[in-house]
Amino acid sequence: MSESTTSIEIGRLMDCTDCLEPAEAFALIGNEIRLAILEALFEADDRPVSFSTLHRSVGIRDSAQFNYHLQKLTGHFIRHVDGEGYDFRYAGEKVVRAIVAGSFTERPELEPFLVEGECVDCGGELLAYYQEEHLSIECVSCDRGHGSYDFPPGGLTDRAPSGIADAFDQRVRHLHCLAADGVCPECSGRMQPKIRERTTSNDEPVVEVERSCEQCGHVVTSAVGLQLLDDAEVVTFHRERGIRLDQQPYWTLPWCVCPTYTTVLSRDPYRFEVAIPVDADTMQVRLDSQLEVTDIAILTTS
Ligand SMILES: [Zn+2]
Ligand SMILES: [Zn+2]
Repeated sequence: MSESTTSIEIGRLMDCTDCLEPAEAFALIGNEIRLAILEALFEADDRPVSFSTLHRSVGIRDSAQFNYHLQKLTGHFIRHVDGEGYDFRYAGEKVVRAIVAGSFTERPELEPFLVEGECVDCGGELLAYYQEEHLSIECVSCDRGHGSYDFPPGGLTDRAPSGIADAFDQRVRHLHCLAADGVCPECSGRMQPKIRERTTSNDEPVVEVERSCEQCGHVVTSAVGLQLLDDAEVVTFHRERGIRLDQQPYWTLPWCVCPTYTTVLSRDPYRFEVAIPVDADTMQVRLDSQLEVTDIAILTTS
């Protein structure tokens, strides 16, 4: 074998001819002057930025040293635009955005805080926890989870707890919306839904949708009901009963969180029914194995 397994795999995953190995990429930006150049480019009012303007904003006297580091970045992180100066390539802008978002540098601590709504199982209060750059919502009384997703530390800056909870709600909705459309929220690669059935420690059956990226392996898991949050008919059903779904945190909607609202009708192929109760009415939404809505009925109990 002439090639290592690693390079074959990376070649297949990335399918590009001039990709850098991750270690080489990190080595290229692991230098304060290079990071300062990327940050100066990010803060510029207009891009491309001329050599002299960029040099001035980075504030290094030695122009040869500045030029040396600039050239190291040029190619993969920065591009030179003839006659105009320097601009980002995608990877360079991504690095700066990650630093601004705090993913590389900060390790913020946040005390758990109460959020709107109550536990879908026991009615207990809900607490949000921030750990390892993930925000999780759990019931104080029974520990039941109401969603746990990555949340960059930059999202905590200048926000009160209620603002953090709002931002988290929006972020989860957007990530799931992208994933449901088949687009990986991390790398924009292709995502396909897979149905997963398991039982909880209390022997309760759980059916979940798992979408994993064919390119980067990122996985997004949710209750079947969460797919319906943006469905026009589901939105209308709620609006007609005085509920704006876009103003209701997803974790306060039991059918978005709790697998017991989803019934598996058949397994080969998969077919589901999600029950969405509002007051005396229950909307019954049927979905196929690709999570497309096939049927909707509204039942009224008098
Ligand atoms: Zn509970
Ligand atoms: Zn991906």
